[in-house]
This record gives sequence, structure tokens and C-alpha cells, in this order.
Amino acid sequence: MRPETRTLVSGGAGFLGSHLCERLLAEGHDVICVDNFYTGRRRTIAPLLGNPRFEVLRHDVTFPLYVEVDQIYNLACPASPIHYQNDPVQTVKTSVHGAINMLGLAKRCRATIFQASTSEVYGDPRVHPQPETYWGHVNPIGPRSCYDEGKRCAETLFFDYHRQHGLRIKVARIFNTYGPRMHPNDGRVVSNFILQALRGEDIAIYGDGRQTRSFCYVDDLIDAVVRLMDTPDSVTGPLNLGNPAEVSILELAELVLRLTGSRSRIVHRPLPGDDPRQRQPDISAARTTLDWAPKVALEDGLAATIAYFRAVLDSGEAHPPPGGG
Ligand code: NAD
Ligand code: UDP
Repeated sequence: MRPETRTLVSGGAGFLGSHLCERLLAEGHDVICVDNFYTGRRRTIAPLLGNPRFEVLRHDVTFPLYVEVDQIYNLACPASPIHYQNDPVQTVKTSVHGAINMLGLAKRCRATIFQASTSEVYGDPRVHPQPETYWGHVNPIGPRSCYDEGKRCAETLFFDYHRQHGLRIKVARIFNTYGPRMHPNDGRVVSNFILQALRGEDIAIYGDGRQTRSFCYVDDLIDAVVRLMDTPDSVTGPLNLGNPAEVSILELAELVLRLTGSRSRIVHRPLPGDDPRQRQPDISAARTTLDWAPKVALEDGLAATIAYFRAVLDSGEAHPPPGGG
């Protein structure tokens, strides 16, 4: 890294974005956090505000932005199904117009640009585990399509800007990541199960719970993201980033119950449309390219996340609506 690297993080007030901003500041970057606070919160970045190298811009990436930067991490986009389905048209705009605006900015500034893509580009996969060479099995018109197809189109744009304009791009396909600073109303499975367990409420599994996911702890993910940005220009991705340790949603519920010591009951609710049956990253490419592997076991990561949510509940902070800062 050059001594004065000016780095923009879109979605910087979100769960992953706030961890990334913190890490980049620790490495000496000047960080501009760009966020419209749709699912992000001031609270996640409050500890960073005293740092003179840190700046926050309330801005919606669907509109053009004119700043001078050397690196861009494009993370802006709601990631939880309940939030990205709340306003699907805005989700598509955020993914597609947001990508165009960030790519345009990168082109003008000659900046290297990272894209937070997703395992959802594989849809409900027919190949297991999923390597980057798999083109996916995605419903283009279903309830998850605004996110899945938006992210797929963003990948297309990144590679077209790379081929057409010679942009330096780094595309990561991130698999389910969890950890401290998740929004209490995030709606994704890890935060839901932990909060339900800590409150003694029923743990609601959608469907029979035999669907699988592979959960990565946030520190491992951020480490890989920063390593990817620092690779030579010839490395574009897409690169799967995640933890290949696969569990069923029922196993996850049982583990959360054990680690919290909760006496909550497990109940079943209808499975949402197009919910992928199984998901596990093949991370061979990331291992070789980044000399990286996830280190935090699910049990340890969950323990840290449970401690965070206990503190959230103790502080009475558990009910702010998304966007409520
Ligand atoms: P998050 O919802 O906590 O963070 C998203 C951030 O983007 C929020 O701060 C939100 O306010 C902001 N945002 C949304 N729309 C915006 C817009 N139009 N303009 C500016 N800011 C906007 O989600 P997260 O888990 O931190 O995910 C961050 C990124 O990583 C997303 O792009 C997501 O698709 C991707 N990703 C995350 C995971 C995961 O498991 N956490 C998995 C795959 C991909
Ligand atoms: N899920 C669940 N209960 C919840 C939230 C999610 O059983 O309270 C299930 C969901 O149906 C999916 C899995 O957990 O099969 C992961 O859901 P999440 O929304 O965290 O992320 P996804 O990987 O589906 O985008």
C-alpha cells in the first residue's frame, strides 16, 4: 500500500462494511465511508468517527459520486432477504446503477475496484460444492431475483469495464458471513436464531431445516477481502470467499441452543420461495491465490456473536428499525 491510499467503502456503515473500514484505518488508509443508511447504522461506525482519516458521506450509490480515490470497495446493497425483498426495484438499482456509478468513478480516478458479489449468483445450485466455473441455476423472475440477478449483472459490468476500459477489478463471491455488529433486525438466520434463543422465544426454522449453508466468521472474510485487493492486477476473480464447513439449518439451531444454554423450542415455519437447498463454497482458488484459509470454527464464531447480542440486549438497543441509525 502507498502511504496515502484514499479508499472508498460503499455500504461502509453496514455489517461487513464497518469491519472493513476499521481494518483499513488500522492499516493506515484514508477511508471514505459512503452509505445511505438503508440497513447500515451510525452505531456500527461510531467508534471510528474520532479518527481524522475517516470520513462519512450519506449518499445513495444509484446516483453519481465525484470524489478522488485510489481504491473502491463496492459493498452497498442490502444483503438480508427480508431487506432486499422489501423494495426489490431499489435492490436492482443499487446493484446495477450502483455498480455503473462506482465503476465510472473507478475509471475516472484509475482506481482499483472490489465488488462484493455473492454465492447467490449460483442460485439453487445443481453442482456441489460450488466452484467459480459453475454458471449457476438462478430463477430470473422469483422473489430472490432482484438480488441474484442484480449481483449477476454487476459482475457482468465489472468484467465489461475490465475488458473494455482496462479497469483493475477484484470480484469476490461472498458466502454466508456472520459475526458481531449484525443488525438485531437483520433477519438472516444467525442473528434471528441467537436473538430468539437469548430471549427464550421459539426458534423458527423455515422448512424442514435440512437445507444447508456454510458460515464464515467476519474476521476471516475481511482478511480475504483485503488480501484480494492487494493481489497483482492480473487477478480479477471471481473468487469464492467463505468457510466450506457446511451445516444444515437444523444443526445450526441446535448448536445455538447448546451455546446459549437456552430452553427455546424449535418450531417450523413455511419455507420462503426459491430458498437454495444447499450451499458450500469450493475455496481452492482463494486458498492458492490469496494464501488464505478461514481460521475461526463455527462454534467459536458463534460464541463471539452470542456475546455481542447479549450486550445488545443488555443495552436495550435490540429494536431499532433498519435505517433508524
Ligand atoms: P448490510 O445490509 O449490513 O450492509 C449493506 C450496506 O449497504 C448498509 O450499510 C446499507 O445501508 C448500504 N446500502 C444499501 N443500499 C445502498 C445504496 N443504494 N447506497 C448506499 N448505501 C447503500 O449487509 P452486509 O452483510 O454488510 O453485506 C455487505 C455486502 O456484501 C453486500 O453487497 C452484500 O450483497 C455482500 N454479501 C454479504 C454476504 C454476507 O453473508 N454478509 C454474503 C454475500 C454477499
Ligand atoms: N432461515 C430460517 N430461519 C430464519 C432465517 C432464515 O430457517 O429465521 C433459513 C432460510 O430459509 C435459509 C437459511 O436459513 O434456508 C439461511 O437464510 P439467510 O436469510 O440467513 O440467508 P440466505 O443464505 O438464504 O440468503
